[in-house]
Formats: sequence, C-alpha cells, structure tokens
Amino acid sequence: MLAMHSSRATRASLALLAVGLTGMVATAALGASGGDRSPIEPARSPKPAAAVATQRLGHDQAAQASSPASPAPEASEPPAVRLPACRYRDQATRFGQPRYWKKTLLDTNLRLARTYQPWDLVSVSRAGLRGSGLVRQKVIADLTALASAARAAGKPLAVRSAYRSYQTQVATFASWVARSGYEQALKFSARPGHSEHQLGTTMDFTTAPGVPLSTDFGASPAGRWLAANSWRYGFIMSYPRGMRRVSCYGYEPWHFRYVGRELAALIHESGQVPRRYLWEHFESVP
Ligand SMILES: [Zn+2]
Repeated sequence: MLAMHSSRATRASLALLAVGLTGMVATAALGASGGDRSPIEPARSPKPAAAVATQRLGHDQAAQASSPASPAPEASEPPAVRLPACRYRDQATRFGQPRYWKKTLLDTNLRLARTYQPWDLVSVSRAGLRGSGLVRQKVIADLTALASAARAAGKPLAVRSAYRSYQTQVATFASWVARSGYEQALKFSARPGHSEHQLGTTMDFTTAPGVPLSTDFGASPAGRWLAANSWRYGFIMSYPRGMRRVSCYGYEPWHFRYVGRELAALIHESGQVPRRYLWEHFESVP
C-alpha cells in the first residue's frame, strides 16, 4: 500500500508531480487509484485528450461529459440502472455490513462506515501464499485452490497487501494530503472507507514477496494467468485496463476481490466491469 512505498518510489512520484499535471501522460499515470496504484507506473494507454480532460474536470462536469460518450449498450438501459459517473462523494453503500460482502459496491462515491470491520480475518499464509496480509476466513479455501493452481501452472503468486482497516486508510490518505495536497491525494489513494481492501476479501498480488505493484504485472506470465483464471476460483479483477470511466480507477492488474465462485462466474460471463455488474444487480435494484 502507498504508505509503505519505498523512498525510491516516493522520489519517483514526486518527480512525476514535478512534471506537472497539465501533461496528458502525467495525468493518465496519476489518475484516480484504488488506493494502491504505484505512482511510478507508466501510462500504458494514454487516453484521448477529451477523456483525460473529463478525468480532470470537476465531478459534475465529468458526469455531463460522460453521458454522450457512453458505450452503446447503455443506450437501451432503463434510467434506473444507469451507472452513475465517478464522483468523489461520501454516500453509504447499500450493502454496508460484512455479511453482504459479495454485494457490497465501493467506488469514489460509495463507502463503508468507519466501524466496518470483518470479524474473521486470518493470514493469507493459511492459503499457502507467500507475502503478508489478512483476509476473511471464507476466502481461504478458494485462495488456497487459486494459489495451488497458479503454482501448478508455473506462475507462483505472492500477496503484497490484503485487509486494510479504516484507520489505516485514514493514515495513508492523510500522509498523501500532507505531502501533495488534497486534490493530488485523491489520485494516489482511495479516501477512507472507499477501499475494497476494507472488505477483507480483496488482495494485491505480485510475483514474489517484496515486488512492488506495477502495471507490468498485467503483462507478466503470472499476471496473464491470473487475469484469465482467477474467476474460476471466485476472484475478479476490479479495475481492468481501459475501463476507468466505468470502474472509477485506473488499471490495477494486481487487485482482485473475492466474491465466491458463483458470482465470479456470472460476472465473468457478463463481460462487465465488476462495478457495473454490482450496480445493476444489487446496488440499484429496487
Ligand atoms: Zn488493491
């Protein structure tokens, strides 16, 4: 997570800041993050100027700008299920108790309470994974299967970070505000309560302990294997590449959330970004 980035990464991020956010590439690289996006990662898919401008607009302007450019399938959707634009607000998510862990939708607007804390956290080492972090006990069986399958495929995985308490998110975000100001902090780190890591079902994978998070993981053999197979074990990639407007966050090929095998298969088959699927099937359902 960001608070634990090496000083090297911090210097790199500050250097990027120095480049200035008027540059398209810098803007894309420093775009909104799920809370653990490495600030040194390259902008692998620079957005068209209009899209970048939208990201940098105030949230109301962004909402207006995104409507006409929405993908075709949205045109036939009834208004009730239209996915909201990504706004920095603080609305309580509908399924905001730990027992609703599969349905809980979190984004730049929807958040968990500060009191949300899973009661059954255990070490990821119980799944035979290297690295560190805590996940809910209910994740362990399928995480063990995932880790075992990855090893069998010759793509061993490690966990960089998993459960993150509300208090940890407060400290992380505050450190970024102190360093870079509030507006920039928004782009480096999820605001407290908005991170899927608070669910206790979400983790960041790397190829080995100590390897920093990078979009390069997505192109690595392990990252490709994970992207193609995670759903079979109940894990979904929350922030796929090129889907920032839908997911609210830039590409995070390391960040996976456990939703159970049944729901993961449904989301996989739908071809939808998890945020859209959860919105349409749970959050917005009357
Ligand atoms: Zn993450």
